[in-house]
Amino acid sequence: MAITTTSKLPIQINATQLLINNEWVDSTSGGTFATINPATGEVICQVAEADAADVERAVKAARTAFNRGEWSTMLPSERGKLLYKLADLIEAHADELAQLETLDNGKPLKDSSQIDLPLTIACYRYYAGWADKIQGKTIPIDGSFFSYTRHEPIGVIGQIIPWNFPILLQAWKLAPALAAGNTVVLKPSTHTPLTALRVGELIVEAGFPPGVVNLVPGYGSTAGIAIARHGDIDKVAFTGSTEVGHLIMEATTQSNLKRVTLELGGKSPNIIFADADMNAAIEGAHFALFFNQGQCCTAGSRLFVEEKCYDEFVAKSVERARRRIVGNPFDPKTEQGPQVSQAQLDKVMRYIESGMREGATLLCGGHTIGARGFFIQPTVFANVQDQMKIAQEEIFGPVMSILKFKDLDEVIKRANATMYGLAAGVWTRDISKAMAIANNVRAGTIWVNCYDALAPAAPFGGFKQSGIGRELGEYGLKEYTEVKTVTIKL
Ligand code: NAP
Ligand code: MG
Repeated sequence: MAITTTSKLPIQINATQLLINNEWVDSTSGGTFATINPATGEVICQVAEADAADVERAVKAARTAFNRGEWSTMLPSERGKLLYKLADLIEAHADELAQLETLDNGKPLKDSSQIDLPLTIACYRYYAGWADKIQGKTIPIDGSFFSYTRHEPIGVIGQIIPWNFPILLQAWKLAPALAAGNTVVLKPSTHTPLTALRVGELIVEAGFPPGVVNLVPGYGSTAGIAIARHGDIDKVAFTGSTEVGHLIMEATTQSNLKRVTLELGGKSPNIIFADADMNAAIEGAHFALFFNQGQCCTAGSRLFVEEKCYDEFVAKSVERARRRIVGNPFDPKTEQGPQVSQAQLDKVMRYIESGMREGATLLCGGHTIGARGFFIQPTVFANVQDQMKIAQEEIFGPVMSILKFKDLDEVIKRANATMYGLAAGVWTRDISKAMAIANNVRAGTIWVNCYDALAPAAPFGGFKQSGIGRELGEYGLKEYTEVKTVTIKL
């Protein structure tokens, strides 16, 4: 099957430099990198490449802005107003931003415009509302004292984000940090820098003071690690692989013990009981795995199906995967676009080969599609065993692995037998089974009869090696404040 894509750019792209102190500048080295359209493999444009020297400039701007106090001590309701204004501007440019996201990342335009953009706007609005509601407590301590707490901004925050949800994860990072009064240096992924930079233009247009938000597109091994190591950054917030999460952690202990939150990988169990609404479970499991080309940290990539309904479930899941429409991400009928890069495509194909080598049964897919772009067929393996690589490691692609289980206790044990603990799903009509899974599977989020139901108010993050700390909600906001105790002798 060939896939027809177009090389013509649907939109004009202006923001391709670094944003430091509200000015668009080239990198110190003058270097640039190319960002690619994954649907065609062609270069979209060159982007200024930040490295350690530029991180230095950006941190200076953020520190100066923080010390100036115009942001951290701005009337909280005014800070909220600016975040609302940013949300309004993003909403006014939602079509353009959705197209830009699809161009740079390859995700279907239907998803960018109906999922990524609405969640992004909602996240900025949610935290805009928090800006004037960040408050401490009065503490009754023994003796003649008045004691209370203040929740103060941490200072300069370094943020590093991946390519799978570029504009949305930028919002998850910027919105709570800014609501709490911090200033920021953010590094987008070199695979998908364009929406982050376009949002940078809207940040300037909204009227945020200079130095409050600084954007440094560049490679992880240079700009990213410079952020993690920097002695004048007070906290680093990272989303990406568990492997790089370890490197970030190491860098923070070797520098200034900066605060750290990590949102890392997953190998999430999605558990189907025979008493579930079968059609809902099949569609839900399909979405849990294949959404976003399988490039979700939460992907339901260990699909445990009860023995009693295993054969029926497998047959219908294969039939559904065969019907999945792969193609040009700008086509409104498309359900699945290309993987983000050649390297990701190669990695996914290696996992497919390993599944076949280790004896899993390949029931559909298994091949790349077309001569250009990074497309992979929706792929389903049955008879997957726990110790196989495809059941242990994060594939980050459209590859479903179906495992069989007999009873509740067994599936809980097997679901927990992983270093990850990001999310889990369970499909059943039996409330006791649902609660047993919810209480005993060690993961940051449990979805019952749904999957990937995310909202800005509901905290998100990982147990075990899926992360440290939480994003979103009030818990996510807390990660961007320091608690100060004030005690007054009366
Ligand atoms: P990645 O390789 O870890 O990269 C993530 C970000 O870190 C990118 O901006 C990358 O820069 C940068 N980076 C790479 N090496 C670095 C280093 N040594 N020091 C500092 N920064 C460095 O992950 P990815 O392949 O982009 O994204 C996929 C991974 O992210 C998956 O494991 C997925 O599960 C995880 N993820 C987790 C969540 C969550 O919330 N838990 C959400 C989304 C994704 P460059 O690539 O530009 O060089
Ligand atoms: Mg790209």
